[in-house]
Amino acid sequence: MTSSLRHFAGLGCFPAPASAGAGVSGATCLLRRYTPDFCAFAALRPIRPAAAFSAANPLASPAEHEQRQHRQQAVPCHDGDPSAPARSPLPSPPPPSPAPLRVGIVGFGNFGQFIAGGIQRQGHAVLAASRSDYSDYCAGRGIRFFTSVDALCEEQPDVLLICSSILSTEAVVRAIPFHKLRPDTIVADVLSVKQFPRNLLLEILPLGFGIVCTHPMFGPESGKNGWGKLPFVYDKVRVAEHGDQAIKCEQFLSIFEHEGCRMVEMSCAEHDRYAAGSQFVTHTIGRVLSQLNLKTTPINTKGYESLLQLTHNTVSDSFDLYYGLFMYNINATEQASTLARLHMMHHSYPYQIIVEYVHDIC
Ligand code: NAP
Repeated sequence: MTSSLRHFAGLGCFPAPASAGAGVSGATCLLRRYTPDFCAFAALRPIRPAAAFSAANPLASPAEHEQRQHRQQAVPCHDGDPSAPARSPLPSPPPPSPAPLRVGIVGFGNFGQFIAGGIQRQGHAVLAASRSDYSDYCAGRGIRFFTSVDALCEEQPDVLLICSSILSTEAVVRAIPFHKLRPDTIVADVLSVKQFPRNLLLEILPLGFGIVCTHPMFGPESGKNGWGKLPFVYDKVRVAEHGDQAIKCEQFLSIFEHEGCRMVEMSCAEHDRYAAGSQFVTHTIGRVLSQLNLKTTPINTKGYESLLQLTHNTVSDSFDLYYGLFMYNINATEQASTLARLHMMHHSYPYQIIVEYVHDIC
């Protein structure tokens, strides 16, 4: 029992986090090297153009407000003749809008295909590469499919979006020929855990490359009727403040903003703490329930309907995804050990079922 609990608490799967810089290779090493930064907190804020903030700043002093209004008033132009009718100044031409992005998706499975839809709807081009052959799927949808990541990189997309399974991502990213890409390319990911890809990308990518870690908190099931109001978490881990890279990053994030997502800027560490408490627990309960083979009845209560929906949503995701949520989020292993402690204290049957389910998979 002691050894199984130790295993369950993550001690068997993950040795306790060591101090930064402990040099061991492999996926778990990326986790171990991380020292949790629970103080890191980025405000939850929607992306808005800077101008919109300053114009509507309610905190500005009355004097500042008056000055701004003064600056905004049109100055009439009389050409020296006081009787001549005032002419409005010529409006300055709008800045040229940047060219549409070319987004290269690496890992074109269930979620890669789903996210490609939104990117295309916002007028950007999608290129894709995957382990399996999706050329037929892509042919009918205006997507260029490449049978190797090498060939995709030769096309030098503006953004390389990693959509591979959590478990395969380290191998997938290490195999990317970065020297074929432009040195200011943005590499983004959509993994459902965030500390792991952040550390991996920081370790592997050449310095000039931008890094944007994201997690669309929805999928093909929950987002099938549109992405409006669904949360989109992002962390601009390393992006130039000015120039092309900064513009492309904003263009990339605006895809999700324009699709109606609720944009949530949050550090990767903070995301993983929240996700362990919400996502991991949700998926675990959904998967445990699926074992009960629940069926709809003519007298479903609202609560039971929710359980059926939860079961349906979680089991339509791959098992790799669930396994990744557990194994690659150190907070999830802590959550699991809390469940184990509760079971030890209360010897309660529901706890036991959950504990045994999680124990079996790790
Ligand atoms: P998944 O099972 O997590 O990942 C499937 C993808 O990983 C496919 O593109 C698959 O390529 C690739 N893959 C798996 N094993 C591989 C290997 N050994 N080598 C190379 N590629 C491999 O299912 P998913 O739902 O499509 O999720 C993809 C990513 O999106 C995950 O990181 C997940 O966390 C994230 N995400 C998913 C959702 C969701 O609701 N599904 C929501 C937000 C984020 P092939 O298809 O070519 O075999």
